[in-house]
Amino acid sequence: MNPTASESTLHIPEGINYECTGCGKCCGGWAVPMTEVDYRRISAVEWSEKLAKFKGRSLFRPLSNQEKSDSPYTHAIKPQEDGHCPFLVENLCFIHSQSGAEAKPSICQLFPYCFNETPSGVYATVSFVSMGVIYNSGKALSEQKEFLITKLNEFKKLFPDHHPNWSQLQLIVGEPLAWPDYLAIEDALFDRLRDRGKSIDMRFLEASRYLIDYATARRAQSGQTKTLPAEGVEGNKLKRLDLNLLIALHRVYFPSAPLGKGEGDFSVASFLNQFFLSYLLPLRFKLASNSFAIDELVALPWPENDNDMEDLLFRYFFSRIFAKLYFGAGFGQLSLIAGFHHLIVLLALLKLQARALALSRGAPAVSLVDLVAAIRQLEKRLGETKLGGYAAPLLELLLFSPGRLKRIVAASH
Ligand code: SF4
Repeated sequence: MNPTASESTLHIPEGINYECTGCGKCCGGWAVPMTEVDYRRISAVEWSEKLAKFKGRSLFRPLSNQEKSDSPYTHAIKPQEDGHCPFLVENLCFIHSQSGAEAKPSICQLFPYCFNETPSGVYATVSFVSMGVIYNSGKALSEQKEFLITKLNEFKKLFPDHHPNWSQLQLIVGEPLAWPDYLAIEDALFDRLRDRGKSIDMRFLEASRYLIDYATARRAQSGQTKTLPAEGVEGNKLKRLDLNLLIALHRVYFPSAPLGKGEGDFSVASFLNQFFLSYLLPLRFKLASNSFAIDELVALPWPENDNDMEDLLFRYFFSRIFAKLYFGAGFGQLSLIAGFHHLIVLLALLKLQARALALSRGAPAVSLVDLVAAIRQLEKRLGETKLGGYAAPLLELLLFSPGRLKRIVAASH
């Protein structure tokens, strides 16, 4: 069968580089998911006969129904006590060294390359779990086209059922969005996000403003009289609901227990549970055995004009938007506006989490290492999180208000 136009077009982001730094850090802090084929291949090997450390150890677990839904995976490798994959031996993959690259779980064979099929082709990106990606090491992806095509072919072989459903695309709930219109909107978003003369917070807020204005104009054109919420005049002080939203999402994306402790890694308590729990529990951001009130966090100033940190934040969000991994079939079927606003909340959470990490290690200021740790943790969590049940509709509701976004950005600045 001939490939369709969309399947045959590979889009590669500009300004994103990658080269493996061989640090071994990618193999820790998450429960590596496996397809059924991976599981059958890898679990068929008597690992305990090859290495004493595997004796008597349970290495795999089935995913729960919620974890499996909308996912090509059925099982996961249980991380060992320190959070690393048990197959990481002396900083090398034991499966790879024993049986070759093709014996590794599919996700590890492709890592850190990711592909997302859309109506206008396949969009490539790389995972910000990788230190090579974080530091933008090596050659630009745009110069690795041949290699990326090889990886895309591997991806198609490993994940033959990856055909995300983009037919439900919405600008806001109840308002369908055509794909060509989305692409034009994305160009306008990037125009605003690339404006390096402004802070990244300001660029995101301006992009959000553009989306709201676009939706308002479209409503007016179609003769709708129902208006969209305005920013409001209440000022920048966080409201209780804003803080509840921040804390609930913080609990989902930055769980206080160390990641990779085995059972339950994928069964992230649903956002809905966390949101209602936030009405019962103290309004504090937890980090391992510490917890911080938002005032304690923001008392640590965010480094202004730190080019490395600004550049990392920009590349992280640019890459996610380029790959369409933030709305529609790319993220929980959220509408475009809710998906973009969710990114703005993630930006605020990254800044809060980096501060919590700095405070926990007794540092006098936030530095790049704190932001790197926060981004890597978020990236792992986003890959595992499912917007099950009522979580997506609740997020739609909570993320719609431009005033809330403004207050959240101001509070985390
Ligand atoms: S299976 Fe190998 S490549 Fe994959 S996470 Fe474990 S050690 Fe790393």
